[in-house]
Amino acid sequence: MDNLREKHWHHHPLSELDALLESHNQNGLDELTVKERQLLYGSNRLTPQKGKNPFVMFMLQFHQPLVYILLAASIVTFILQEYVDSGVIFAVILVNAIVGFIQEMKALRAVEALAKSMEGKSTVIRDGHKLVIPSDEIVIGDLVILQSGDRVPADLRLIRNRELQVDESALTGESVPSQKNLTPLPIDTTLADRDNMVYSSTLVTYGTASGFVVEIGDNTEIGRINTLIANTQVLATPLTIKISEFSELLLKIILGLAALTFAIGWLHGQPMLDTFMSAVALAVGAIPEGLPAAISIMLAIGVNKMAQRNAIIRKMPAVETLGSTTIICSDKTGTLTQNQMTVQHVFASYQDYSVSGTGYTPQGELLFNDEALSLNTDTNQNVISQNNVALAETLKAGLLCNDSRLFQQQSQWKIEGDPTEAALISSALKAGFNIEQQDKLLPRIDTLPFESQHQYMATLHQSSQSDSYIYIKGSVESILKRCGNALAADGGSIPLDVPRIFEEIEQMASRGLRVLAFARKLVTQDSKSVTHESINTDLTFLGLQAMMDPPREEAIQAVKACQNAGILVKMITGDHVATAASIARQIGLKEPSHDSTHNYAYSGHDLAQLNNQELMEVAQSSAVFARVTPEQKLRLVEALQAKGHIVAMTGDGVNDAPALKQANIGIAMGLGGTEVAKEAADMVLTNDNFATIEAAVEEGRSVFDNLVKFITWTLPTNAGEGLVIMTAILFGLTLPITPVQILWINMSTALLLGLMLAFEQKEPGLMNRPPRKPGAPIINFELMIRVLSVSSLMLIGAYALFAWAIAEGHSTETARTLAVNMFVFGEIFYLFNCRSLRYSMFKIGFFSNPWLLFGVVLMASLQLAFTYSPTMNTLFGSAPLSALQWLAVMAGGAVIFIVVELEKRYRAYQETQRK
Ligand code: ADP
Ligand code: MG
Repeated sequence: MDNLREKHWHHHPLSELDALLESHNQNGLDELTVKERQLLYGSNRLTPQKGKNPFVMFMLQFHQPLVYILLAASIVTFILQEYVDSGVIFAVILVNAIVGFIQEMKALRAVEALAKSMEGKSTVIRDGHKLVIPSDEIVIGDLVILQSGDRVPADLRLIRNRELQVDESALTGESVPSQKNLTPLPIDTTLADRDNMVYSSTLVTYGTASGFVVEIGDNTEIGRINTLIANTQVLATPLTIKISEFSELLLKIILGLAALTFAIGWLHGQPMLDTFMSAVALAVGAIPEGLPAAISIMLAIGVNKMAQRNAIIRKMPAVETLGSTTIICSDKTGTLTQNQMTVQHVFASYQDYSVSGTGYTPQGELLFNDEALSLNTDTNQNVISQNNVALAETLKAGLLCNDSRLFQQQSQWKIEGDPTEAALISSALKAGFNIEQQDKLLPRIDTLPFESQHQYMATLHQSSQSDSYIYIKGSVESILKRCGNALAADGGSIPLDVPRIFEEIEQMASRGLRVLAFARKLVTQDSKSVTHESINTDLTFLGLQAMMDPPREEAIQAVKACQNAGILVKMITGDHVATAASIARQIGLKEPSHDSTHNYAYSGHDLAQLNNQELMEVAQSSAVFARVTPEQKLRLVEALQAKGHIVAMTGDGVNDAPALKQANIGIAMGLGGTEVAKEAADMVLTNDNFATIEAAVEEGRSVFDNLVKFITWTLPTNAGEGLVIMTAILFGLTLPITPVQILWINMSTALLLGLMLAFEQKEPGLMNRPPRKPGAPIINFELMIRVLSVSSLMLIGAYALFAWAIAEGHSTETARTLAVNMFVFGEIFYLFNCRSLRYSMFKIGFFSNPWLLFGVVLMASLQLAFTYSPTMNTLFGSAPLSALQWLAVMAGGAVIFIVVELEKRYRAYQETQRK
């Protein structure tokens, strides 16, 4: 192992390679060697590239136009020897930077944690056993098995290859998949041409292969070029981009206004310092500085909530898009159904046998005409063959042509692999077959794994006595067209009666059963491999097995919730159209409307006959699309989008990637999905459950609601403050609020009040209203009116209180303290209005958001300190207030609260009138 680093892995003949790696060839490494090498070489992990340097991140907090203005103000006031103001402004800049920094770190941390939870798994052979392990436990010399959809976990030299194709764009930038082979290559072959190697992080798009691990972790090619920047998640969504653009525009306008203010003040002959400070106050007050940060934080909180409900967001914009989803296209098997398969019928030699028993537990009987076949399961499995050879072969095919495992663990029957296959093992065991015995009699020497694109799987078995057999299982369509005859009960050959078989299939499928067909082919004893060509014709049909996969209870509820929320749910499946339609009805997917001429369910074959226009109509009104190819999935997404829909679509296979990318929200399965699908997806379900999609939509709507609440809450303060300063300057009045006071209000309230809206519970009726229109403005006309009226009330309140205090002969400090408190308590009262955009606060419950109450209490205490603490009085130019003055402040706040609540009432009334 010493000079492994200098080896040219693509160059050595395979025979040398084995010795170099000290591996045990086909059996893989043993436990001990693995442990040793893990200790010696560490884990197969890329050292994450350092993210942004925290110091740089902190300094970047100062790189904002607003901070520049404040810095300038701080310097100017310092030069003018206004040390207190200068100090306060500088302190605010510092606090602002610290808060911004902490928020950014927290948001990044949350997103990074999610990325970590997505680490991959690989299949290896160790000690002669096939194991699925976390990819970072792989060591040099491990024998890794690759299948389409896998992500290559390390650099491998291939030792077996079946038509492997790999997308190496992560490494070479070349997006056309490269074909692999096993031939040793000259030393100077370039990376892109090393066809006997596969490299870490590339994606298998087709075929299967196995190979030895030659490099791991940072020594892999991808580790060396280190392009995998750790978790390149950015916290940007269309909304945050829009808000940033809006803020920038606002900034320009306000700076213009501030300049104008300065000019007007100067014309009025006011002192330079005062006019300068007014201009600063205007800029500081009118710019919603906390907005972009608050929105990022609220989105990050949304991502966390979704993760708690088993939906992992991979691409940030999905958080937002989820709330406007209008159609969900879901897989059937495992997502809408339980993926708990039990064979209930076996059809062989044109006779129907039923199978008793529930779940995977191999306890049950085969019955013919309601009478149990007397199979002595303990002794001799040939009993069943004596009964009916075709029946025996159908069950045996299910047992042998199978990559899954059924085993007992603490008296519980567990499965590993594909549930469809586990059900077949269970049915064979019920008939008395013994797995080890069959494996000995007919050892498997080659496999064509199941791929949904082909809809079948085949295995080659060599028998010591007779010729070899290929066993094939798959969808009825894919098997029957390849069969030439059928097996009879006595083991002889009988003609294939296709219509008769299809009649049987229709009957089983219409009850929601999933039907698989079985066939075999006799081949010469020296056959070493099975190819797609070799099983294209002349198969012998053995029989059918039909299994039940009940709908998930929670999926039924979730579908109902979606349909209430104006979201259409479609089923897209590789299964038979009648099976799919039956399950869809059990789950409650909507029928097409009465005036529609479209069917409930279409097969991929039907869809292929439709032109784009027809497809758009069918896609919208029908519920089930069965036996669809990945290309048709893509066409369906496009058709629905052309109809103006926001489409969420699930997928798990390699070929689903284009459809997942095209969908507005591509959803991959965390348990059953391939790495390729996860890579393409915006969201991954950790439990593969449809109900999780519905939960994510609900969270998405709630996040968006809370964002709108925050914006509606924050704008009136900024507008009010801006207006206060502008009117003061236009009319040459004393400023009712000073710049440092404005800074105080904006900084403390955004944090202690506004952000707490992120913890607001879901609105009642959240899932009873139609999806948000994606192009609709964030603040609609009604909210705009609300924002403007609250701004005016703030403006009037502040001026009225200020003027009242002055008229009563109080100091300017007292008058200003009144105005400041008017703003803060106005915001507090209005915050309660904003807890719901539609409903009265009393309907959603006063105590339902403890965070918010906590923030309010803290803010009110701070205001008391602001008003009464001598230090604060010096810093902010504030002064104590009397009880009567407080009463006036509270009355002002209450007016705002009552006006907004009345407005909500009025809107609700209007709505009922419209209905
Ligand atoms: P879905 O998961 O939507 O039911 P798939 O694409 O996985 O669809 O399967 C399509 C069809 O292929 C199934 O209806 C079944 O007939 C067949 N099939 C499914 N799994 C296997 C398997 N492991 N081996 C052979 N055939 C299978
Ligand atoms: Mg499937």
